[in-house]
Amino acid sequence: ESRNGKRHCNLKVVLLGDSSVGKSSLVMRYVIGKFQTSNATIGAAFMTKTIQLNGDKEVTLEIWDTAGQERYRSLTPMYYRGTDVAIIVYDVTSPISLSHAETWIDELKSYVDTERNSSALKIILAANKADLVDGYQQPEELKKSRSENFFVVSAKSGDGIEELFDGVVGDLPDEM
Ligand code: GDP
Repeated sequence: ESRNGKRHCNLKVVLLGDSSVGKSSLVMRYVIGKFQTSNATIGAAFMTKTIQLNGDKEVTLEIWDTAGQERYRSLTPMYYRGTDVAIIVYDVTSPISLSHAETWIDELKSYVDTERNSSALKIILAANKADLVDGYQQPEELKKSRSENFFVVSAKSGDGIEELFDGVVGDLPDEM
């Protein structure tokens, strides 16, 4: 698709992870650049941010947040449908939220259209609230399976957020 003489594409990004790991805070930090403590529910299904890539490309991220529905494990198929990139979030101070990461990935894969090239689905793991743990490192058990698509972040301090979303748009397929 061409827009203002630039090649343009939309990318659907969904956030997944247990309640309270900081999904909304990460989206707000990235989209509006602030750490919001009061969690005003956003009326929209998703927020967008358009970014310029080098040369003649721009991409609009449609960032979907669960709006609290993950508490009841009741995300609708619509939430998952057409996902290009999933950010699975866990809280570095909550081992249980990390142990659930794999469950979220399984759930995601069970919903994302299998007729689409499933290899196009990108899964990123974000370790949030890094401000609460000095020198937090990627856990050993994750190093084997997912070393590249792993980011240590803090919605509070802003650390790692740009890198995380650079990772979201990194190596887009050529047709985009
Ligand atoms: P969600 O349920 O996954 O969307 O989580 P929220 O974004 O609502 O955050 C849950 C709680 O964790 C809130 O009290 C946030 O202020 C807090 N929180 C979120 N991100 C961070 C972070 O990076 N550092 C710290 N210290 N607290 C955070």
